[in-house]
Amino acid sequence: MISVDEAKKIISEHIFQLDTEIISLTDLSGRVIYQDVVATFPSPRFDNSAMDGFAVRSSDTIGASKENPIKLKNIGSSSAGSPSSINLSQGECIQCMTGAKVPKGADAVIMVEQTSGYSDNGTVKIMAEVPPGKNIRVEGEEIKKTDILIKKYTRITASELSVCAAFGYNKIKVSKKPKVAIFATGNELVEPGEELKEGKIYNSNLYMLSELVQNAGGSVLMQNVIKDDKRALRSFLSKALIDCDLIISSGGVSMGRYDHVRNIFMDLGVKEHFWKVAQKPGKPLFFGSENDKLIFGLPGNPISSFIGFMEWVLPVIDQMMGSPERPYLSGVLQGDFQRDKIKFRYLFGNAWVDQGKVLCRPSKKIGSHMLTSALGANCILGATPGDEDLKSGDSIQVNLLPWAYLS
Ligand code: AMP
Ligand code: MG
Repeated sequence: MISVDEAKKIISEHIFQLDTEIISLTDLSGRVIYQDVVATFPSPRFDNSAMDGFAVRSSDTIGASKENPIKLKNIGSSSAGSPSSINLSQGECIQCMTGAKVPKGADAVIMVEQTSGYSDNGTVKIMAEVPPGKNIRVEGEEIKKTDILIKKYTRITASELSVCAAFGYNKIKVSKKPKVAIFATGNELVEPGEELKEGKIYNSNLYMLSELVQNAGGSVLMQNVIKDDKRALRSFLSKALIDCDLIISSGGVSMGRYDHVRNIFMDLGVKEHFWKVAQKPGKPLFFGSENDKLIFGLPGNPISSFIGFMEWVLPVIDQMMGSPERPYLSGVLQGDFQRDKIKFRYLFGNAWVDQGKVLCRPSKKIGSHMLTSALGANCILGATPGDEDLKSGDSIQVNLLPWAYLS
């Protein structure tokens, strides 16, 4: 049995970066960018109006008010997509819509509400003074040409996607998605919807792992529930080792009579880097590799598999795609936390912010078979081994679940 820190170090020595591919904007969701995205033009691209109104020379509006409107001659119109090429002279204005190019000669836009509005006779009453620059979005005020918009290794969200589109990128270089095989083992497993005969349980881990892998940006290429049968395991695994980058199993890696997974991995040439980590839940964690394929054997108890994925496999998927490490938070415990003398102790929990501090509390359900402890949790709390339990007010590691938020 090795420590959590030793195990993390060993894993870091075997992670490799996936190849890259160029994909279209519509497929970008959840990917990690593998290039700096650079502005090919400034933003705004040209001086344009922030309001629906009239482009004016600000000097023409001096002294204008509701009581003393100043009349200007409307000589044209500029709308988004249809700029006016007219050069504005003294005493003139041009109707100018939001996003439309500000015509030459104008140095401000007066909002339509401060005028008499458009009229057929070509005269507009200006009812307020506007200083130079008013309601004009200036060329390059947000982004200069050649500025880096998005740094390499950023994970795509709606923010990045929309910025890529706004700057005209229709293809982007990204890391390939890791191809993942997941499988659950156990003669006791039946599928939801089937009859639950005595001694059987429903397979829940494979559904959980499939969702977690996809949420992490991986692509589930192979998935199956396999009996505790050496031939069936060998057949699935030998194909997975050819087709996939990452293999994740749940169950069958403990000391039980039917726990064949580890032996089959090794029979197929997988090099074991460690088996058993000083952690609870999930001590019999297996990690191995075969060439550039990585293999994780997670123990089958649902919480061992779930926390095992979040603490061990998710950071590996992130790094394979080039995505930066997700930081742990430090939380202040509310209530006690039972530590283990020699094992790192993980529990699902809840974290929230109060007066600028992250406060947290573990789930009351502490068994590794108690899958419902994950319901409503927004984090995994992790305590280093120690003789004394942690007390209220002590600090503890908080791993915020990526889809949750501090409540
Ligand atoms: P194992 O690691 O194979 O010894 O399994 C440990 C415990 O987890 C046993 O109680 C199994 O029945 C349970 N288990 C294993 N695989 C699954 C699964 N796919 N879904 C739900 N429970 C499972
Ligand atoms: Mg089993």
